[in-house]
Amino acid sequence: MSSERRSSFVREVNEVFDRAARHTPHDPALLEHIRDCNAVYHFTFPVRRDDGTVETLHGWRAQHSHHKLPTKGGIRFALDVNEDEVMALAALMTFKCAVVDVPFGGAKGGVRVDRSQYTDTELERIARRYCFELARKNFIGPGLDVPAPDYGTTSREMGWIADTYAQVHPGELNALACVTAKPLAMGGIRGRTEATGKGVFLGLREVCADAPRMRGLGLDVGLAGKRVVVQGLGNVGYWAAKFLQDAGALLVGLAEREGAIANPKGLDVDAVVAHRKGSGSILRYPGAADLADPKAALELECDILVPAALENQITEENAPRLRTRIVAEAANGPTTARADELLRARGVLLLPDMWLNAGGVTVSYFEWLKNLEHVRFGRFERGKGEVDVVHTGLETTMVGAYQSIAKTEHDRNLHGDLRTAAFVNAIDKICRCYDDMGIWP
Ligand code: NAD
Repeated sequence: MSSERRSSFVREVNEVFDRAARHTPHDPALLEHIRDCNAVYHFTFPVRRDDGTVETLHGWRAQHSHHKLPTKGGIRFALDVNEDEVMALAALMTFKCAVVDVPFGGAKGGVRVDRSQYTDTELERIARRYCFELARKNFIGPGLDVPAPDYGTTSREMGWIADTYAQVHPGELNALACVTAKPLAMGGIRGRTEATGKGVFLGLREVCADAPRMRGLGLDVGLAGKRVVVQGLGNVGYWAAKFLQDAGALLVGLAEREGAIANPKGLDVDAVVAHRKGSGSILRYPGAADLADPKAALELECDILVPAALENQITEENAPRLRTRIVAEAANGPTTARADELLRARGVLLLPDMWLNAGGVTVSYFEWLKNLEHVRFGRFERGKGEVDVVHTGLETTMVGAYQSIAKTEHDRNLHGDLRTAAFVNAIDKICRCYDDMGIWP
């Protein structure tokens, strides 16, 4: 990755922050303090491969804001993980938590590794050693910093992390609350796996039920019949696609890293996933047209485009060619600031990541509470299972946050700029927190 791109992600986030901060009345010194990353830990560690050789890997953990503790954010296993990326993503976590009233500061971490080149036993050694390195520096713990999965990691890695943390903190009653999205048997919560994708769906359902907004976009009210393109069929993309499809939306394009497929009559996401599993590629799916360049899917004609893979996918370069009315940011940071401006100028509605994909951290918060309470939600209520409690809490959170963002959009004359409105809400809440604590001079 070029240093130019490396330095740009934090700058992008800061630019959006500064733009939003201008719509608030707060002390510039406090705003600067809130904007900048509090702490970054970069370390290297050795990992033994199955063939006996040893490699040195780079790991990071950034804690963006300690205004609330613990800090919270995912762990990436990916080749382009770097300091700038974890810092930018940690900042987004701070603001995301504030937007959905999850009482955590933001964090993010990762290991620079191509997970496809490692066996399961090697990945286990990497996850455990990563956790051990964090534990040595007090960069992980139920009241300090609580990771979760992100690109390239799953509940399996979280299970290894929880187990390692518990081993180095024997007898710590709340040890399992050191990480979220764990397997159920290790203190995980029902509904976490699909939480981010479900949150994306619930957010879109709310926006599409907003009649004046739909009228302004020239779209019908409701999700049924909406033409949707999804980029990335991992945890977030798959579940978002699945819930949207179940609600009657038409999946007209699906993209994965090896290419994309399109069918204006609609694709069945489960059948596509099964086809990809069987053949090793999303391409050559019966009845669909192949697009060799996965990025071409972003330019398919649709009503809702859901980037659910990586950051920096919609840029100044391709934004003018997008043929969608709504960009639903399921991934973190998929749209650059300049692309955001270009899309807004064309009347495209952008649903910002910091609200739309907050379902994961919301349900992670529920899991953390469950771990601290040592009891499953719904245990003492007749007829209400844990998953019902989780889904109700998630729905209330996503809907309430949308209404609050839409109110700020209206009150501060931000016409269609929901990202700035969401940032304004986050900044206001964090500043209020400093004011209430009385710690800002
Ligand atoms: P994941 O690893 O489960 O899935 C990512 C998918 O994108 C993979 O299937 C991968 O093959 C695919 N992909 C990679 N490059 C691609 C390309 N160029 N074109 C199309 N597809 C491509 O990761 P995830 O957890 O689903 O995370 C996806 C995004 O959502 C990330 O930006 C992440 O930060 C964000 N996010 C995840 C969560 C969560 O709970 N998992 C929560 C909030 C935000």
